Amino acid sequence: MATDRFIDMCGTDAPLADCLVIDGHCHVDLWIGMYAIDRHIEGILEVCDAVGIDKICVNYAACPQMRLGNDRVADCVRRYPDRVVGFCYINYFEGGEEVQQAELKRCFDEFGFKGIKVINVNESYPLACRYFELDDPLQPTWEFAQQRGAPILCHGIVTGEIARRYPGANFIVAHGSAVPDFCISMAKLPNVYCDMSATTMIAGTLELLCDKIGPQRILYGSDLPASDPGQRLGMVMAAHISETDKELILGRNMQRLLDNVR
Ligand SMILES: [Zn+2]
Repeated sequence: MATDRFIDMCGTDAPLADCLVIDGHCHVDLWIGMYAIDRHIEGILEVCDAVGIDKICVNYAACPQMRLGNDRVADCVRRYPDRVVGFCYINYFEGGEEVQQAELKRCFDEFGFKGIKVINVNESYPLACRYFELDDPLQPTWEFAQQRGAPILCHGIVTGEIARRYPGANFIVAHGSAVPDFCISMAKLPNVYCDMSATTMIAGTLELLCDKIGPQRILYGSDLPASDPGQRLGMVMAAHISETDKELILGRNMQRLLDNVR
């Protein structure tokens, strides 16, 4: 296969330049029980600079109290408005419609957040969560996302049925490249995206996903600070796909999703 500018850069020490790179899946501060490169936002941005990441989408899903965690992210957005995009963590155990709407409005309207993060850690991923279709504790959050055209980073929750109910919201399957069959099963739903922040991604997965769901539906993400973003950047850079596809995956797709938020 012919080489391209990304492949030429693999193995060099230089940060990836002349390409918009947005890391769609990052955290900050404490991450209990996990090794982290540097949990503080300054350390995280230093790592980003070293590899060439322009912007990071940050959520604080590790915090049991959603307001406290979202406050921490808001602080990072305030300090680094050009680098950090806030994703509002919604913990449905903390309340229903009023609680979720109030927190979403606070984060989007007061802090300027552009996305949402939801997580279900009690069930195995991604087989679980059919019960969300029947008695959905996150309905107020999906409705908000639909109204605002916002992206929702979904760890173990979204199903095809939920995505069909809210066509104006954009659902991102967190760690989706670890479960390519699940993402491919969503191929007909244009509002479902696959996040690459998987601990394991078998060689050829990115090429398969580009073929089956299209490069415009794949988003680069690292799970910083729990993982090395450079390693996952390399997975895109070295992939057997076109330079244009790499540009979409590395940043342009996420920028499009962020630009869609009202
Ligand atoms: Zn994560």
